[in-house]
Amino acid sequence: MIDYNSRRIMLIAGPCAVESWEQIKEVAQVVKEAGIDILRGGAYKPRTSPYSFQGLEKKGLELLNRAGKEFGLKTVTEVVDTEVLEQIMSYVDILQVGTRNMTNFSLLKKMGRLTANTQMPVIFKRGFSATIEEWLLASEYITSAGNSNVILCERGIRTFETATRFTLDLNAIPVVKKLSSHHIIVDTSHATGHSDMVLPMSRAAIAAGADGIMVEVHPNPAKAMSDGAQSITPPQLLELVAALKPVAESVGRKI
Ligand code: PEP
Ligand code: MN
Repeated sequence: MIDYNSRRIMLIAGPCAVESWEQIKEVAQVVKEAGIDILRGGAYKPRTSPYSFQGLEKKGLELLNRAGKEFGLKTVTEVVDTEVLEQIMSYVDILQVGTRNMTNFSLLKKMGRLTANTQMPVIFKRGFSATIEEWLLASEYITSAGNSNVILCERGIRTFETATRFTLDLNAIPVVKKLSSHHIIVDTSHATGHSDMVLPMSRAAIAAGADGIMVEVHPNPAKAMSDGAQSITPPQLLELVAALKPVAESVGRKI
């Protein structure tokens, strides 16, 4: 389904959370127009505060699935716990494990077991306080349970720095390339927390050898129900893809 062996950069874009049909449709449309194959959208949101928007849950999965079908896009959403794993597997093409669940080993084992037959891709985010070694070892809970189709995702780690939401550890890219055969992508939205930093850090990630980029897009970031400050607009997504093309080519990759 996704051509992992090519030199093509894997681009993934979509809203932090699916909020409505109008919202996901508008984003899916520009994702398609940008030539991107994979639409992201959170349905179950693991929020820091229990009082923040928790996602549309099943309704969100239905809307993401519909947008994927209408626009011919693959879809990815985060699995927050074992309870919703099978339900989510029936709606999307790719599963995501979030930073807060990197060490949820019972979830990882069950995910590996249930996807062993299909080898459904799993985007496995680095815990924001995890070393690279801990992250790679945790990924083996999925692979040793039967699914080797893991895509590692660097999404920023916690440091003393407060100017950005997290600190993007670009070092992780060459380290993972040396230690692992998995692909590594970079989520430049969560890593920075600021929409104006998404483009420069996406360029940097591709230049450093990343196999893909994940970004959050919202038609009206100021009104987003989650992560508006780091979400780029549809026109900015088109600009981003255009800006990344020459960088990809300069390192022997294509978009
Ligand atoms: C997300 O991608 O929606 C998300 C919550 O990211 P992270 O787990 O990296 O915080
Ligand atoms: Mn988000």
